[in-house]
This record gives sequence, C-alpha cells and structure tokens, in this order.
Amino acid sequence: MDRIILIKYGELTTKKGNRNFFVNTLYNNIKNKLAQFDVKISKDISRMYIEFKDNQLDEIKEVIDHVFGIHMYHIAYVVNTNIEDIKNKLLQILQLNTFKTFKIETKRSDKTFEYNSQQINPILGSYILKNMANVSVDVHNPDILVKLELRPYKSYIYLNGYKGIGGYPIGTQAKGMLMLSGGIDSPVAGYLAMKRGIKIDAVYFEAIPHTSLNARNKVISIAEKLAKYADKINLHIVNFTQIQEQIYKTASDNYCITIMRRMMYRIMERLAKKYNGLVIINGESIGQVASQTLTSMSVINSVTNMPVIRPVACLDKLEIIDLAKKIETYEISILPYEDCCTVFVPKHPVINPSMEECLKFEERVDYNKLIDEAVNSVHTIKIEEQTKFKDLL
Ligand code: ATP
Ligand code: MG
Repeated sequence: MDRIILIKYGELTTKKGNRNFFVNTLYNNIKNKLAQFDVKISKDISRMYIEFKDNQLDEIKEVIDHVFGIHMYHIAYVVNTNIEDIKNKLLQILQLNTFKTFKIETKRSDKTFEYNSQQINPILGSYILKNMANVSVDVHNPDILVKLELRPYKSYIYLNGYKGIGGYPIGTQAKGMLMLSGGIDSPVAGYLAMKRGIKIDAVYFEAIPHTSLNARNKVISIAEKLAKYADKINLHIVNFTQIQEQIYKTASDNYCITIMRRMMYRIMERLAKKYNGLVIINGESIGQVASQTLTSMSVINSVTNMPVIRPVACLDKLEIIDLAKKIETYEISILPYEDCCTVFVPKHPVINPSMEECLKFEERVDYNKLIDEAVNSVHTIKIEEQTKFKDLL
C-alpha cells in the first residue's frame, strides 16, 4: 500500500511571524539529512510529507529521530480523496490490526469535499461496523485511534505516531561556539543548545604532550555523536600547551584553574569573532567544582562581554548523565583519557577567587602574544556523523 511519512512541526506553530522561515529551515535540514535516500519531500504550512521506498523506511526513521523541530510523525496511508476509496482503504488498514474498539477523527483541509468532518466520521464508522465483526466505537478510550486528513486529490489515513525530538530546527538561530571537552557535561550542553536551533562550532583545548591523541580522538567521537543532530560540525582544536605551562610556572597553585579558564574564555571570544559565533556555550554546572561557584564564574566570565550560555547550569549531575546516555555520548565520556583540565588539577583550587590576584598573576606573562599564537594555529576538522576516525569503543 502507498505510504508517506507525515511530519507535524509542534513548537514551530507558536512562531507566528517567523513561521515560513522555521518551516523552510526544517525542510532544508530534512532534505540535507535525507540526501542519500530515494525520497520526495513536500511541505505546507502545517505538515511535511516524505515519499519513500519501503525498504529504506527504518533508516529514514533513524534520521528523522535526530532532527530538531519535529513534534510528531506518522506513517500514513495515501488514498484518493473520494468517499468510496477512503472507505475501502480504511477497511483494508483496520483489517491488518487486532482491536476491539476504535474511533475516527477527521481533519478537513479540503473544504470543497462533499462532507464535513462531523458527517464523515459516522459514515466511515458505520461502514467499518458493517464489514468487521466484533468491533465497536469508543469515543473516549478507543484501542485504535484512526486519523483521516482530507486534502485535495490525495488524503492520508494513519493510526499511531512517533514522537519527534522537538525543539527548533538548527539554523533558526545564529551560531554559537561550544567548548567541547571529553567530559560528560559539555556534549549535553551542545545538544541542548542545538535543540534551541543554534548552529554550533565546537572548540577543544588540548595540551600535547600532557594530553594524548587518545583524548583528542575521544572528543572527535563525541562530536560525531552531536553531528547526528546537525549537518556538519566544525571542530576547532586549540593548542593550549604553552599557555598552560606558563600559568603553572608563574601563578600560585590554587589560582591555576581560574586563570586557565580565563584564558580559555579569551580564546573563545577571539574564535567566535573569527568564525562568526555570537555566543559561547559550555557545560558549566553551578557548584559542581571550584571553578563553577558563582564567584568563580563571575571572575572567569569578566574577561569577555560575549554572552555565555550554560545549558546545564542548573541541572543535577544525574540529570545530565541521563541526557548523556540518551544522546549516546556517556559511554565515550567515561573513557579514562586525561584532559587538559585534569592533568594539572591543583589540590586546593580557589573557590572564591579575587580579581586582583588573577590580574597580578596574569601580568607576569605576555599572554596576549600566546593567545594570538593559539588562535592563529587552530586546526579545524569537519565532523560528520560518519567521519571515521580511530574507533575508541
Ligand atoms: P565533566 O563533564 O566531567 O564535568 P567537563 O569537561 O565538564 O567534565 P569541567 O572542568 O567541569 O569539565 O569544565 C567545565 C566546562 O568547560 C566544560 O563543560 C566544557 O564546556 C569546558 N571545558 C573544559 N575543558 C575543556 C577543554 N579541554 N576543551 C574545551 N572545553 C573545555
Ligand atoms: Mg563539568
């Protein structure tokens, strides 16, 4: 039987003035993600329709399950918009299912159709009752809810649906720069930011030889998981070795992390300007470690005027872990490779750093020069979902 995938937008419908922009962005995103499949995609103001080849359905569903902006989707049967064809098709479909009670709901976008929704439901209902034994109508709690969408020429009949991942289509917001480490939090922060429609570039700070290529590959594998939700993700790799070594040579132990993070933020701002990002996004979570107390965050944040978005700021670690499992980054994040933040961790990082102290330590080195060098020597990798690097797992 002829079937199509029928997509409902959900949250987009609240964006009145921007609706076309949202729908067009979603359309382009779906088109890009399905480029390798034999599909035909069309859209109107409230629905998108994908014609597909039956043997590709499972793979196509897997793609659609990772596209932001989809509220629900259904595998719908296609029928000519005339009452006899609709009756027969509906009967055929219901005969494929086992149930006792049913209900029919009709949405009529074809206002020229001879019956309105109130009239058509009883016509179809009684046809089913006449032709199927042991079934009855239950309008409150039916075993099967049948939906009929009447449109000019072709109409759609469907039963259950699948929940989409919601959010806004990526690209409906400007670009943000995600600080992506090998930890658990930052991939989740990236996922949540993308869910709001933000296109992301990822930035990873490494300190070779203190950190290994395994640590870098871990970040690449995590970025691949995030790329499932996006088109491609640019991963910018920053050589942080010199800056980090200078910090540990010249600042007192307990201030090293604070100053290191101020340097990261400075570099993030520079990279955002270079690659047209409007905000910095990271996985900081209030109270999680010494550098994430409000005092620390404020001293660190003061090096930039750029907005910093912290999607997991108010989540518990267990809530973050649940999301990390859902997006399949958790298993990679818990691999034991060291990160540039963890190799130099002091015993007692300061919880309430003072700005004066930071400035005092920062005067001891020409960091502007080192920051310039770090920014100019960034190495960028285009990450796609199937970019195949060394397999870590
Ligand atoms: P965990 O997930 O275990 O907390 P983490 O990577 O989040 O590890 P934190 O010290 O909590 O480690 O760092 C806070 C945030 O700073 C991270 O979520 C990430 O956004 C950013 N960050 C830390 N280290 C790096 C790094 N090496 N490269 C890029 N961003 C980093
Ligand atoms: Mg963290």
